[in-house]
Amino acid sequence: MSGDISSGLASAIRQLARSERLLVALDFDGTLAPLVDRPEDARALPEARDAVERLAALPETRVAFISGRAMASLLEVAAPPASALLSGSHGVETRLDAEPGVELTEQERAGVLRLREILEGVAAEHPGTWVEVKPAGFALHSRGVAADVAASANASAHERVVAELPDTTERHGSNVLEFSVRSTTKGDAVRMLREFSRATAVLFAGDDVTDEDGFRALGDGDLSLKCGGGDTSAEFRVEDPSGVARVLALLAEERATQYS
Ligand SMILES: [Mg+2]
Repeated sequence: MSGDISSGLASAIRQLARSERLLVALDFDGTLAPLVDRPEDARALPEARDAVERLAALPETRVAFISGRAMASLLEVAAPPASALLSGSHGVETRLDAEPGVELTEQERAGVLRLREILEGVAAEHPGTWVEVKPAGFALHSRGVAADVAASANASAHERVVAELPDTTERHGSNVLEFSVRSTTKGDAVRMLREFSRATAVLFAGDDVTDEDGFRALGDGDLSLKCGGGDTSAEFRVEDPSGVARVLALLAEERATQYS
């Protein structure tokens, strides 16, 4: 059963399933897991989890999670299969078949310290906003905060960071503004994981603005899947995480037939 999967998408999934070595790269929040107010409460839909585990168990098939979350936080909420390749903090942190980690240069460390002071100052002036520590930077969260307060916090953070630390990378997500002293993107993560897994085709699914870098890193024979509304350069779209779960279930089913 393909549920509400369009015939174009279903045929792209069938084609993808026949590729020699497949990489299934997935954003977590808003893609496998519905968005929630408290980031620590996010969990993948059971049907998404089930499809991910079936894909991870198939031959010549690697599952990767590519998230903006710090690695520790991703491991906590996503509980990925042991064989999953992981990319956290928008590609700053990686777990391949080895230990995760990121080493900052002295200059990057100095930038991180100043960045923290700036953002904690902004958060203190805008009640309800809070700063999350990331390995090479920070995220300013404004979920649940009045729109005008959030906008003012974001504008203030942007101005101060640009003035003092012009080389900082800024990323806009839903109710979050992130600053990093290292300029990796989800596109870098997709390229690195493609190379690492020697994949002959890649699926990347995501819901947010930062996932667009991942979509743009895809090419012929790959499949880009946007979850939810908003502009996108992805080729296909589903409405919500249960749509993503249906796509993954169909992919697992089609790919399993290659090896039965
Ligand atoms: Mg997301």
